[in-house]
Amino acid sequence: MTDEQLLRYSRHILLPQIGIEGQENIVEARALVIGAGGLGSPAAYYLASAGIGTLVLADGDTVDLTNLQRQILHRTDSIGMTKTASAERTLGEINPECHVVALNERLSGQRLDEEVALADIVLDCCDNFATRHAVNRACVKFRKPLVSGAAIRFDGQVAVFDSRQADAPCYHCLFPEGQDVEEVRCAVMGVFAPLTGIIGTVQAAEALKLVIGCGTSLAGRLLLLDGLGMEWREIRVPRDPGCVVCGKIAE
Ligand SMILES: [Zn+2]
Repeated sequence: MTDEQLLRYSRHILLPQIGIEGQENIVEARALVIGAGGLGSPAAYYLASAGIGTLVLADGDTVDLTNLQRQILHRTDSIGMTKTASAERTLGEINPECHVVALNERLSGQRLDEEVALADIVLDCCDNFATRHAVNRACVKFRKPLVSGAAIRFDGQVAVFDSRQADAPCYHCLFPEGQDVEEVRCAVMGVFAPLTGIIGTVQAAEALKLVIGCGTSLAGRLLLLDGLGMEWREIRVPRDPGCVVCGKIAE
């Protein structure tokens, strides 16, 4: 690392659990963030400020006025820009050391596979079940750790699905496809602005820990936040041996 990097990341390097070696892991890592909205904003902020080497941000949407209440990557003068271009501008101002790859597309199929295969860590910050399941399948296929978050109204949830561990569940073990509860969208139900910040920031923390290789990840655990009572609950999530996505791989 350069002298400037040693200074910029000095408060990380001071931590014995991170140190120069852990920070080098961050600087060399490639993170894939799916969605540049309410969860992707804080997640990308912290990944960039903490020095993630390459931040691939995928989103096919354009910034509109209703996004600005919580999607803090975007500003009033970003309205009309693609979310990825707006995010690239903001993140470049925070940390020019972070190489941002802005993908103005909703990743699926072959393109999703390609990007997941290249990534060291994947953050699901999207807002729909179809994408969540597609991202999960790709992460299991390429054995990439997945940090998954969701936020609606005052309720948030966050978990890690790490298919590198034989006993860890995948997203499908927890939420089998087809049994999904009715899709609830922020556009209809509303969402408390700081809730997306809290959940997205936990996603960034888990992603960085996995990249550094420190602490204990949320693999096999689902954290649920009731933002009105400000209470966290934790649920243990077992792997489903009959899961059609990860069942065969772990055998
Ligand atoms: Zn599974």
